Amino acid sequence: APPAEKFEYQAEVNRLMDLIVHSLYSNKEVFLRELVSNASDALDKLRYLSVTDPDLLKDGPELDIRIQTDKDNGIITIIDSGIGMTRQELVDSLGTIASSGTAKFLKTLKESQEANVDSNLIGQFGVGFYSAFLVSDKVAVSTKSPKSEKQYVWEAEAESNSYTIREEKDPEKLIPRGTCLTLYLKRDDKGFAHPERIQKLLKNYSQFVSFPIYTWQEKGFTKEVEVDEDPAEVKTEGDGEPKKEVKKKTKTVVEKYWDWELTNETQPIWLRTPKEVSTEEYNEFYKKTFNEYLDPLASSHFTTEGEVEFRSILYVPATKKEDITDRKTKNIRLYVKRVFISDDFDGELFPRYLSFVKGVVDSNDLPLNVSREILQESRIVRIMRKRLVRKAFDMILGISCSENRDDYEAFWENYGKFLKLGCMEDKENHKRIAPLLRFFSSQSNEELISLDEYVESMKPEQKAIYYIAGDSLSSAKNAPFLEKLNEMGYEVLLLIDPMDEVSLTNLNSYKDKSFVDISKEDLDLGDKNEEREKEMKQEYSQTCDWIKKRLGERVARVDVSNRLSSSPCVLVAAKFGWSANMERLMRAQSI
Ligand code: ADP
Ligand code: MG
Repeated sequence: APPAEKFEYQAEVNRLMDLIVHSLYSNKEVFLRELVSNASDALDKLRYLSVTDPDLLKDGPELDIRIQTDKDNGIITIIDSGIGMTRQELVDSLGTIASSGTAKFLKTLKESQEANVDSNLIGQFGVGFYSAFLVSDKVAVSTKSPKSEKQYVWEAEAESNSYTIREEKDPEKLIPRGTCLTLYLKRDDKGFAHPERIQKLLKNYSQFVSFPIYTWQEKGFTKEVEVDEDPAEVKTEGDGEPKKEVKKKTKTVVEKYWDWELTNETQPIWLRTPKEVSTEEYNEFYKKTFNEYLDPLASSHFTTEGEVEFRSILYVPATKKEDITDRKTKNIRLYVKRVFISDDFDGELFPRYLSFVKGVVDSNDLPLNVSREILQESRIVRIMRKRLVRKAFDMILGISCSENRDDYEAFWENYGKFLKLGCMEDKENHKRIAPLLRFFSSQSNEELISLDEYVESMKPEQKAIYYIAGDSLSSAKNAPFLEKLNEMGYEVLLLIDPMDEVSLTNLNSYKDKSFVDISKEDLDLGDKNEEREKEMKQEYSQTCDWIKKRLGERVARVDVSNRLSSSPCVLVAAKFGWSANMERLMRAQSI
């Protein structure tokens, strides 16, 4: 046989391995979660490909994960019948940082810059495949891809910068397809090789894996066996001939044997009846599926029937999503008849501005070989999308109605921007978005208010919803335009975020009240006295001319106005022009 070939790890892997071996001691047991989730991913990939290429299953139709332990020698074997890896895939996947989750972990670590790595981090992010070295001195990955004739073994020790790859020659280890991982546990971690320990961890970590996980367990059954009793006393009967009688007695014995035992429940959580699923289960499923470490802010589990049937669980995360323009968000996992299809179709199933919502969707009405093109054309998908969006809004509305005002504040802080984007991009849902918006107001102290709250406290004679845009709360609050409205007791929305004004302009009105910018000319507060205005105009016309001459091209016009109560003058924007704030925005964008 050709000798094993030696490879060096990519530099990042070395750093990670060093951390794993020397710094991350607690939370070691996450290794099992990571390795089982890799096995499950490999099975998902195979199942998906086999939809169009059923031949892939000809070497074995069973899709499962089997975990065997050898407690005397401290060895754990994890076998999956998934997609396996070719020789090149071994190099690419297990010699570099392949996973974005692991990259995220390293980045967070760098940012936290703590000499003493908080072991919690690893519980939150996981370090993927390399977590095997949390508990192992040596790891062997023997794997067979359907694309390759041969089976290969990747092997590495914990304290090393390199790994080897060789062909699998041991006939006992040959598998038709998939991957067999062997962990040679460190001396202090051999306890993990106890079958009960593994079973307990699996129950904890892998309750949402949708393939059967079998563990090799010692079993026993009781059996009644007949045993001979000592020859009983000799009895003489009838003719006096002695007869020896051996009495039989039954005894219970325990017969031991080893066998595979199904350890998880494979029914996906979304198929269960919502009433029977606890919040903890929803949260666990969320964290496990989306690699999150904080519980979600809200979740919604529903089934739709009728025209189109599908089941879904949606979540609003508690973690901030930074990049509003990020299109590749992988936030919606699409299943067709329980088969995971892709998490790359979120744009088709969900509008971009709701990309912070995460969830799973399982449909029986789509073809298993569904593609992006099919999704874009499909009437079924259009209906699904509509329902999903509605449910998402119901869920968000639920947060806003919560007793706890902090919940919605946290939501708004994280995702307010996205809803404002929705005002621009989704006219059809203006009715659902508008009640969710929040603004600062001239009558509340730094506290955000909703449009409903605004409308409720409107004066009886007040006609419009008034707003003013500014670049800070204090500049908006101190604008001279506010004087008159304050005096009249009219509340004014203070738009501080550049997107606020754009979203209101798009909404146009709320509950039949239009939005009015108080910095524009011609502001009508319903207190016009035309007679007096005419008089004033005449009286001050010379003054106005004089000021206009002085200012020249810098202003379009100088007018007398009744809009101020204590400031002598104010600059207003033309009725059909941009507001000062919009001008600032446009200027900022053109640089
Ligand atoms: P991630 O799972 O996030 O991609 P990991 O570090 O856990 O990152 O795994 C790295 C890669 O190794 C996987 O993306 C996959 O390509 C490959 N891999 C790991 N375990 C298996 C397995 N059991 N079967 C097939 N491929 C695997
Ligand atoms: Mg992984």
